[in-house]
Amino acid sequence: MNNLVGKLICENLKALKPYESARRIFAGGDSESETWLNANESPFANDFNIETAHFNRYPDCQPQSVLVPYAKYAGVQANQLLVSRGADEGIELLIRTFCTPGKDSILICPPTYGMYAISAETCNVGIEIVPLNADFSLDLPAINAYQNKVNLVFICSPNNPTGTSIGKAQLKQVLEHFADTALVVVDEAYIEFDASNTWATELATYPNLVILRTLSKAFALAGLRCGFTLANSDVIQSIMKVIAPYPVPEPVAQIAAQALSPKGLKQMTEQVEYLQKQKQLVKQQLSQLPGLELVGDDNANFILFRHPQKPALMDFLVKNSVLIRDQSKQISLDNCLRITLGTQQQNEKLLALMVRFFIQQGELA
Ligand SMILES: *Cc1c(COP(=O)(O)O)cnc(C)c1O
Repeated sequence: MNNLVGKLICENLKALKPYESARRIFAGGDSESETWLNANESPFANDFNIETAHFNRYPDCQPQSVLVPYAKYAGVQANQLLVSRGADEGIELLIRTFCTPGKDSILICPPTYGMYAISAETCNVGIEIVPLNADFSLDLPAINAYQNKVNLVFICSPNNPTGTSIGKAQLKQVLEHFADTALVVVDEAYIEFDASNTWATELATYPNLVILRTLSKAFALAGLRCGFTLANSDVIQSIMKVIAPYPVPEPVAQIAAQALSPKGLKQMTEQVEYLQKQKQLVKQQLSQLPGLELVGDDNANFILFRHPQKPALMDFLVKNSVLIRDQSKQISLDNCLRITLGTQQQNEKLLALMVRFFIQQGELA
């Protein structure tokens, strides 16, 4: 590292490794010849129109054309909603707004989504860790012990990568326990696959509740970078102090508005139903493979499993151009791999390859 850069770079960034997103791991990959089942993206690429007439103007900070239909879809008021560059920006904005660097901390419950910790580290904010129980429920006594020690509690439900949802009774206890001391952030990136478990309707009951949403998963728009923070208006107003002046590019607003139109919502619902059916078919077939243990639950658009031959299986799939995600470095997830549900054709390709792997290993005839 250049000496000047080494001298200037923030102390808390020196040891930090960038987030290993699914994209970075296979950067430069060819999505035509490879089957991408590694980033919980939708396999559907839907069509949109772009109107260029106002591209010479700065966009609205919070475009009504997106806020109004999303508020209606989520069942909240427009003043309880913030649109940002993906849910990932929502995570970072919450940390920047509510945690003082070098002083405050967040609480996370791994195995879970990696960006809460990364965002905290880049902001020089502390991270307290309370692993999930063996059944991936919350360890309530351990979490509650952090009262007055954390400003944000991140809870992912359905959880990535376990596919488990946190029970209403458990979450209610966390919200009540931290009522006067912390915001409880429920990450609902996959809520369309487990719609009855949303907390969006509970904002009036819990002033410390925050919900994260995204168009990246069920809405099939990971490339758009559009996400939402749902919270009481005083929380939203505070985040507005920190957010960039033009966080939502005009083409993003146009496409998001189309995705949230009645036609777009109908398409999303149909695509979710398709993936839910695929999930049951794939799960059923995976469960018949030798030595394979399904892990967690199936409340999202992916399946997690464990196999003692994880490294060889992963290598074999990558060599055959099917990319899935290794989750084995996470706490409690030794030898675990995660498969994102794709189209029927993609899923069949994956399953056929897995069968071939076990035949080669002499474990299947
Ligand atoms: C994918 C994902 C996100 C990020 O969503 P973006 O809107 O694409 O930034 C957030 N949380 C979880 C749990 C995710 O899996």
